[in-house]
Amino acid sequence: MDNREIIDSIRRRRQPHLPYVMGSLVGGAVGDALGYPVEFMSYASIQAQFGAQGIRSYWLDRTGGVALFSDDTQMTLFTAAGLLEAVTCDPVGLSREVVANHVYRAYLDWLHTQDHLFVSNPGASQLVDVPELQHRRAPGNTCLSALYSGQMGTIEAPLNNSCGCGGVMRVAPVGLLGDDGILRRAWAYAADVAAITHGHPMGYIPAAALAQLVSLLVMDRSQGASLERAVSSVIEGLPRWFADQREHADDMASQLRRAAALAAGVEPDYDCVVQLGEGWVGDEALAIAVFCCLRHPDSFDEAVIAAVNHGGDSDSTGAVAGNIMGAYLGIDAIGPHWTEHLELRGLIEGLARDLCEGCLGVDERGWCNDAAWLDRWARHPIGSLAVVRENS
Ligand SMILES: [Mg+2]
Repeated sequence: MDNREIIDSIRRRRQPHLPYVMGSLVGGAVGDALGYPVEFMSYASIQAQFGAQGIRSYWLDRTGGVALFSDDTQMTLFTAAGLLEAVTCDPVGLSREVVANHVYRAYLDWLHTQDHLFVSNPGASQLVDVPELQHRRAPGNTCLSALYSGQMGTIEAPLNNSCGCGGVMRVAPVGLLGDDGILRRAWAYAADVAAITHGHPMGYIPAAALAQLVSLLVMDRSQGASLERAVSSVIEGLPRWFADQREHADDMASQLRRAAALAAGVEPDYDCVVQLGEGWVGDEALAIAVFCCLRHPDSFDEAVIAAVNHGGDSDSTGAVAGNIMGAYLGIDAIGPHWTEHLELRGLIEGLARDLCEGCLGVDERGWCNDAAWLDRWARHPIGSLAVVRENS
């Protein structure tokens, strides 16, 4: 097979995944944008303002008709940018360490968008120049302080003891990347990515679970994936993946089992959500999102609406539920009433395509030689890519 044939075969193999990769990335942004205006409101205040059924559509009054997403989606997009830089710079045999390093660099780019005085990074991806991303949308203190520290947190050398949901709300792209090696062990790569800023096991174990869940949903579409089966597979995997943190892995697994049991019951959505927590911490955010998806497996709308209508971290639980439902049902299940007003929709869809297909302009050794791709994702490459550019 020559180079062209190899690329065509990759494209054919990955193409069926695209609606689900795009659904997950767009769906997360939709859930985030729906929940963002009510993030700091009690459920009673949400009902007082939006009616007894809570908030059920975007609140666009104060935003000129654009559904703005929060730091959750901003950081998700930068996670994707870091992954794309990683696969561009090191296309063969990506190690967990290399991937985490690239994503860390992308997060420093994100920090620059939040604070232009912070310029320690050269701006590796195009995202750093996108005007719409140069806004502070209630960024989490843990992410800010960890990145300001100048050090990259790891599971072995944590920077703090945070179990906030800032780890899980941004890692879905790890489970969406069209790289077979990463997809099969998305949990491991996602744990490292979350541990860059969140040092407590409950900061990165939920992230591992989410990335593996969306990767299972995307990969298994052709075999008719079942949401329940994918959740069960994650529940079974957790104690094995985190044998060193068995107590926390078991705790996460039992919270997911509880979410599944509540979803199978008859109590109203809100009454179930409050039994799972408020979502400010990673394990609760994931459990709430999984409950909402299992309760409404046939409706993207009902799942994300359930995920934001409570007194906790509505944008993060909405984002995670949107990631899961989009990966499960695909982009066609997300109606125009959500996508038409969504901020940076075109950019998000383009990112999904790049994540799914990878760089299709490569030389005979597998190195990217597509100038537009390099300009998007690896403008100031580190490591081996420099050699490729000299040679190309
Ligand atoms: Mg947020």
